Amino acid sequence: MSIVDEPRASTTTSDAVDADVLIVGYGPVGQSLAALLGASGHHVLVCERRVGRYETPRAGHFDHEIMRVFQSLGIADDVRRIAEPARVYEFLDADGGVISRLPREWAAPSGWDASYHFYQPELEGVLDAAVRRCSTVDVRFGAELVDLRQGDNHVVATLADGGVVTARYVVGADGVNSAVRALCGIRTDDLGFRGDWLVVDVRPRPGVPALDIPDTGQVLDPARPNHMGRVAQRYFRWEFMLVEGDDPTEMVEPERVWELLKPWIGPQEGEVIRRTVYQFRSVVADTFRRRSVLLAGDAAHAMPPFLGQGMSSGIRDAATLSWMFDLVLTGAADPKLLDLYTASRKPQVTAYIEESVRVGTVVCDTDPVRAAQRRDEMRSTTELPPPFQPPVGAGFQDGQPLAGRLAVQPLLRTGDGKTVRSDDELGRGFNLFSMVELDAATTAAVSDLERAIGLRSVVVGAEGLQEEGGALSDWLKEHGVVAVLVRPDFYVFGTATGLSEITGLLASLRASLWLV
Ligand SMILES: Cc1cc2nc3c(=O)[nH]c(=O)nc-3n(C[C@H](O)[C@H](O)[C@H](O)COP(=O)(O)OP(=O)(O)OC[C@H]3O[C@@H](n4cnc5c(N)ncnc54)[C@H](O)[C@@H]3O)c2cc1C
Repeated sequence: MSIVDEPRASTTTSDAVDADVLIVGYGPVGQSLAALLGASGHHVLVCERRVGRYETPRAGHFDHEIMRVFQSLGIADDVRRIAEPARVYEFLDADGGVISRLPREWAAPSGWDASYHFYQPELEGVLDAAVRRCSTVDVRFGAELVDLRQGDNHVVATLADGGVVTARYVVGADGVNSAVRALCGIRTDDLGFRGDWLVVDVRPRPGVPALDIPDTGQVLDPARPNHMGRVAQRYFRWEFMLVEGDDPTEMVEPERVWELLKPWIGPQEGEVIRRTVYQFRSVVADTFRRRSVLLAGDAAHAMPPFLGQGMSSGIRDAATLSWMFDLVLTGAADPKLLDLYTASRKPQVTAYIEESVRVGTVVCDTDPVRAAQRRDEMRSTTELPPPFQPPVGAGFQDGQPLAGRLAVQPLLRTGDGKTVRSDDELGRGFNLFSMVELDAATTAAVSDLERAIGLRSVVVGAEGLQEEGGALSDWLKEHGVVAVLVRPDFYVFGTATGLSEITGLLASLRASLWLV
């Protein structure tokens, strides 16, 4: 293996490469990115070292924002068939008593249920089908990347079987032990919070009555912190922290597993479909880009599972990276735009990691005195914390209301009387929503960006396109603005308090995208 760092002599030219983008790894993040790029017609090659898809579950939860990404891929209905809305997140004491309860049924901005449980192999099946529908995406299994060399305008990748492929860009979506990250010499910052947990997934046997276990329950038992919850309609997960004296090999023995599960289920009622000890970590890469090589998903960051945001954060990477690639690969923007990727994604994902560590520190506490104090404090707190929704770190108009925040997805009533989600009506791209009619100068600026980057604009309240409900208009009013410009990854680029500011907003977008 060689480390990519310095430019090397080019052996091919950029117009003779095998693919626009080589994605290394076909986990949920590699799949999402492949589907997003394929939907825009880019030539994508995916190399996955496994001989088939990963058939064991890991992630079990994603949020509304990710459902909106699935919506943009046209697979929201398929995903809804295999996923189940999450209802409540509970902290429990060792006897199962509720310490505090956080509802998960709040009105999420994306226009979907706030979050969902799912069984990862089923979700990967849906994503794989979306990828297979893209004629410009080629997925190769049994293809392990072992080397990367960077030319002037392309990257040369060597596979374990000696095969060589070339691409303009390479994305390492190859998981927490990323070979791509190592080959690029990208270091990680370790926040130091890690833990070994036994994870057991169980499928109830046919005819077994519904199990009385919480939707998501974190058990604050200092003797053995543990977790239980649904993975989807038909699966359940238990997790048990390994404490001093536990032997990881002994913990996964069937007798030990059933002994731990005894309070809830026995072998007559359920079938164990996965039992393993895994170590969660809290790490983030120094940078998510080195020249033509980028990182996404667990390759760029890994977090404790207490917020269920590991996979969601990786799919956010894919959503951001795909629109940046769209602009760069079509020649609309200078490749410098890709520098915005780390700046946009890293601060937000770091916030998710830090919050996961904060919650994990509470859950994993094995000091009985401190844990009892915490339980008392939590019981006496009646105020619910607001949903955790950190902004992105860059790629927006700093200082403007809502900039960098996740945008709402309103419902629109079309001319023929149908009610549609705005993304379905407008498509994936830069969208301008205005509550005021545009004048000639603003319309000209919109048309200019429509030609350059496919910007779409909608005047809400105009004849033909009314808002159903008040998600958008209430949100804009609350923040004192009349227009909002939304990025293709659903984050707010900027807002305007009056018509006169909209052309300035559009000019700022043009400059910040490095349009050529
Ligand atoms: C027990 C557990 C519970 C979790 N729970 C949640 C949860 O509730 N919600 C959530 O959002 N996240 C959760 N996560 C995290 C989640 O599983 C990961 O964030 C997610 O799977 C990462 O997706 P990925 O595509 O980045 O990486 P991976 O799923 O790890 O996929 C990487 C792929 O790259 C391939 N690969 C590796 N090296 C190479 C190479 N050299 N060449 C070619 N291919 C290669 C691998 O074979 C693999 O298929 C959990 C993780 C664990 C372990």
